[in-house]
Amino acid sequence: MQIITEPCQMQAIAEKLRLNRQLIGVVMTMGALHEGHLSLVKLARQSAGTVILTIFVNPSQFGLDEDLHQYPRPFEQDVALAKAAGVDYLFAPETESIYPKNHQTTLECGALGKRLEGERRPGHFNGVATIVTKLFHITKPHRAIFGEKDAQQLAIIRQIVTDLDLDITIVAAPIVREESGLAVSSRNIYLSNQERSAATILYQGICHAEKCIAGKMKNLPAIAAEIEQMIGSTPGCRPDYVVFVDEERFLPADTAEEEKEYRLLLAAWCGTVRLIDNSKFRA
Ligand code: AMP
Repeated sequence: MQIITEPCQMQAIAEKLRLNRQLIGVVMTMGALHEGHLSLVKLARQSAGTVILTIFVNPSQFGLDEDLHQYPRPFEQDVALAKAAGVDYLFAPETESIYPKNHQTTLECGALGKRLEGERRPGHFNGVATIVTKLFHITKPHRAIFGEKDAQQLAIIRQIVTDLDLDITIVAAPIVREESGLAVSSRNIYLSNQERSAATILYQGICHAEKCIAGKMKNLPAIAAEIEQMIGSTPGCRPDYVVFVDEERFLPADTAEEEKEYRLLLAAWCGTVRLIDNSKFRA
């Protein structure tokens, strides 16, 4: 595995791979690699000849009151995990190489970037859109694998690919969970043992929704309200939002229609840690 830090060097390698008719798969992360990230690498391995993993803690997607400076950066450990997972190139640039002093151009997401996570974290998705697009140009992938864990982000990336006519196939990877049901996340390390077990309430909410929908309950906001109640009554936890959206447009859904797909999106605070989770349902 080769470690690359300069965008122009990564670009030159990607260009050469393309000229040699190599299929490039990319996985973009902020590091602190875990089973979720590694499942994306595995999918990339299965569908591309060359796998590029990027590690970059992107400042432009963090709000001023967020955890940019505390974000875990266990680089040596990440290198070992990436190598063992079969990554061919690890692209890990310094912030200054990606955002030099005179960097000015950013992408502006449309309405989808301003709802839900976008409303709670103003500017977050513009930062995501900008870095993902830059990394597309740097790594020149045919395929890019993103996790359903960040479902709204995935929807926004698909929108970017459509809106900007990018010739890249986006592959969605299912959410990897711990045995308790808690979705694996780099931020889980901030949870105390007590908070960690309380945090499983998000997954219990998803299971509750599954039962309701299997039982043909049609009132989606009512199911969401029940889940909010479950989270709110868990010591140490506070719901931020619980909402069903239609899978196509990510707009809040009301009555479940037969055969249509919906996604339950959850965000909650467990102690001082904000967690998100989601699941897709067919009514
Ligand atoms: P992050 O490093 O948190 O920005 O995540 C990088 C990529 O890994 C994104 O596409 C995430 O959606 C994906 N990811 C993070 N956690 C998980 C998980 N538990 N299961 C599947 N994919 C995940």
